[in-house]
Amino acid sequence: MGIWHMARIGFIGLGVMGREMALNLARAGHAVTGHDAVPGVAAGLAEQGITPARDLAHAAEGAEFVILMLPDTPQVEAVLTGPEGLLPRLRPEQMVIDMSTISPVATRSMGEALAARGVAMLDAPVSGGAAGAKGARLSIMVGGEAAAFARAKPVLEAMGTKVVHVGEIGNGQTVKLCNQLVCAINIQAMCEAVALARASGLDPAVAREVLMGGSANSWMLENLGPMVLAKDASAGFRIDLKLKDLRLANDLAFQKGVPLPGTALVTSLYLEARAHGEGSNGNQALFRVYDRMTAQGG
Ligand code: NAD
Repeated sequence: MGIWHMARIGFIGLGVMGREMALNLARAGHAVTGHDAVPGVAAGLAEQGITPARDLAHAAEGAEFVILMLPDTPQVEAVLTGPEGLLPRLRPEQMVIDMSTISPVATRSMGEALAARGVAMLDAPVSGGAAGAKGARLSIMVGGEAAAFARAKPVLEAMGTKVVHVGEIGNGQTVKLCNQLVCAINIQAMCEAVALARASGLDPAVAREVLMGGSANSWMLENLGPMVLAKDASAGFRIDLKLKDLRLANDLAFQKGVPLPGTALVTSLYLEARAHGEGSNGNQALFRVYDRMTAQGG
């Protein structure tokens, strides 16, 4: 696909991220058929230009690109290589692009299973949150063959502003796990600063304003800072998904023999949050762990 053309796309997983990404593909002029395990979700997007699929197989039928935006490794495996999965139906002219955040190891083995049928696969996880998905401003890290990347790039550019090929299949996921540990440790740093400012009788909003003007500034301070100050725990990016990413990062670190002490610490704090029933809250709700530790709750 050297010059732009309208592509037929099957989009599977229309949750917080997937629905916005599918809508951007439709707005860019692509023909998008959508499917979600939750009945009615795809039909709810019909007025906005998504054709609802009858089932998984219908979503993939005749699609040049089959895009997945699912929670975790088991769901991607079920859709691709599981007993009811798409693998036997896929044809060599089709390409699978998995944009979920999942295991790099499982990604490589699914890539091999698809390659055995002549089907190219890219892993293309994203960063930028629900706002980035909505505004087509995602950063997209792509692993796979260079030729497949070149074919998919115009489609990916309808969803993101930074689309980077990072090498062989699975590498996209590895870069994403690096991204996630930086995000988690940044949130932790922000929550610690707010806890200390509050306990010292300072207005944390004023402190945030000054921090944002200097070398302590971060995406987290800019985008999630207001929610932390307002004690708004709503999702966004759920703590359950954050813990899934930290588990994947810790697993990879263990395999590679790389100590990640900062990641291990923030993982424990997120586990504390989940133990207090916060799994469905947004990942900025780490501030509640600090509220509990400093008796600032409420
Ligand atoms: P989500 O839970 O809101 O959406 C996932 C969707 O997949 C749901 O609608 C669910 O019903 C559907 N689904 C699950 N199993 C399915 C199956 N077998 N077949 C069809 N549909 C199925 O999650 P999300 O926040 O959109 O995140 C999706 C992925 O993107 C995750 O891997 C997450 O880690 C990653 N991610 C999320 C964010 C964020 O800010 N939310 C940012 C970057 C990356």
